[in-house]
Amino acid sequence: MTEQYDVVVIGAGPAGYVAAIRCAQLGLNTACVDDWCDASGKSSLGGTCLNVGCIPSKALLESSAWYEKAQHDFARHGIIAKTIKVDVATMQARKDQVVSDLTQGIKALFAANKVTLKHGRGKLLGPNQVEVTSKNKTSELKAKHIIIATGSSPVNIPVAPLTEDKIVDSSGALAFDAVPKTLGIIGAGVIGLELGSVWRRLGSQVTVLEAMDQFLPMADEQIASDALKHYGKQGMDIQLGAKVDGAVVKNNKVEVSYQDSKGQQTIKFDKLVVAVGRKPNTQDIGAEVLGLKLDERGFIQVDDHCQTGIPNVYAIGDIVRGPMLAHKGSEEGVMVAERITGHKPQVNYDNIPSVIYTEPEIAWVGKTEQELKQAGIKYKTGVFPFAASGRARAAGDTNGMIKVLSDATSDRLLGVHMLGAHVSELIAQGVIAREMMASNEDLALTMFAHPSLSEALHEAALAAAGHAIHIAGRKK
Ligand code: FAD
Ligand code: NAD
Repeated sequence: MTEQYDVVVIGAGPAGYVAAIRCAQLGLNTACVDDWCDASGKSSLGGTCLNVGCIPSKALLESSAWYEKAQHDFARHGIIAKTIKVDVATMQARKDQVVSDLTQGIKALFAANKVTLKHGRGKLLGPNQVEVTSKNKTSELKAKHIIIATGSSPVNIPVAPLTEDKIVDSSGALAFDAVPKTLGIIGAGVIGLELGSVWRRLGSQVTVLEAMDQFLPMADEQIASDALKHYGKQGMDIQLGAKVDGAVVKNNKVEVSYQDSKGQQTIKFDKLVVAVGRKPNTQDIGAEVLGLKLDERGFIQVDDHCQTGIPNVYAIGDIVRGPMLAHKGSEEGVMVAERITGHKPQVNYDNIPSVIYTEPEIAWVGKTEQELKQAGIKYKTGVFPFAASGRARAAGDTNGMIKVLSDATSDRLLGVHMLGAHVSELIAQGVIAREMMASNEDLALTMFAHPSLSEALHEAALAAAGHAIHIAGRKK
């Protein structure tokens, strides 16, 4: 018998599972189809983010940061720890446990909200029909509304074909069972920098080969250039303008050839990670059956409300335009669920925070200085270095800065850019301020606790207004 639902969501990543829960909260009879399996072949919800993305990478970043602190920072705090070793198996087991706890948590949320989970591969058969194929059975679901949230997968490049364990993608790099002595990474994007940081902290000699001449073009140039210096000091060798044209496994090493400004180069690594971006999972989902339009890169075309050309079919998360970020997909999921039930929410695409969880962390929201220049918008800048922050000094972590950009005429906050410890948390203040349409003056007039890293945001706003207290020579 064909089961009938108000909504069928395909994909249980942060876009799909959030959409399914919100639909159920709003009283819609909801099913969620997802095909992700853990190592034992059991359904594991949360998609890329929980299984091989945000969460496992942050678990390893945390563990490796502890190791690095124990090695290099304990002594200057007067803590003597003589034998510090890495036990990769324990580190990986902890990471796996964190993942498993959280994926189980989503199952519990589905049960509590009465979302029906269908483990299997979903395919669109029509605007109201989804086929679900699992190991040995195929069934059909009928739905008044369909939300497609099938996510994305790593891009593979023919010049560096993946192997069992030598040339790997991000999932492989999250699962190394030992610290590679030398590690090559293709791509100085977010994944390259985060996973490069993990293994560098644990002892790998890391070289990142980036095709572009510019480092992190999506970040504010001042922040990106300062970050590059810090990564260099830490020993991460980031080579810009390095175009990889081959990678082969020879004598248990990966031999990588690339072209840079000096000509053809060759370098050998114990392992190579290919981290050159991700592509939307829009193949084999039956998009053509419904006549869904894909753009030239394979993303499903949607309007500002994630509606496809077919009114009752929506697409959210990594399979549609915009940054491939978990929180962006989740907000789209909530928006679609609420619009289906007659509400009129919007996603504020101009206010999506980005974070790179390296040391120092990078975080930003809104426009970069180069974007404002290019758009010919007149702006004020205020920068406050963490070196002048009492809390940062007490913590012994003074790298980086907070920078605010505000409109020269209206004073409206246009961008907030951060480099430093804990800025993944501090950036929320910039996001909230912008969501509330704050002016720079609003931030400058707000009281911040002392001593706190947040004071750097206050001082940056004061600097933009021309009267920072803790930077000499900038009074007005
Ligand atoms: P996904 O999470 O990819 O989920 C899609 C789900 O749909 C999967 O379970 C998949 O198996 C399932 N599926 C696909 N096709 C079908 C089908 N036909 N039938 C049934 N099920 C199907 N983002 C951040 O915001 N912060 C981070 O710190 C961060 N770190 C990351 C680290 C790494 C190493 C990686 C790889 C990514 C990271 N991301 C991060 C990106 C983030 O993981 C994605 O943006 C996010 O997971 C996208 O969510 P989604 O729901 O659109 O898709
Ligand atoms: P990315 O787009 O961030 O970076 C890929 C990099 O690889 C780019 O700098 C690109 O120029 C380079 N590149 C492409 N082809 C190349 C080649 N042939 N040789 C050398 N360099 C090449 O992609 P990613 O790092 O793979 O991450 C994928 C997505 O996952 C990103 O969109 C990101 O938003 C998301 N993600 C987010 C987080 C986070 O929010 N902290 C963490 C990890 C991943």
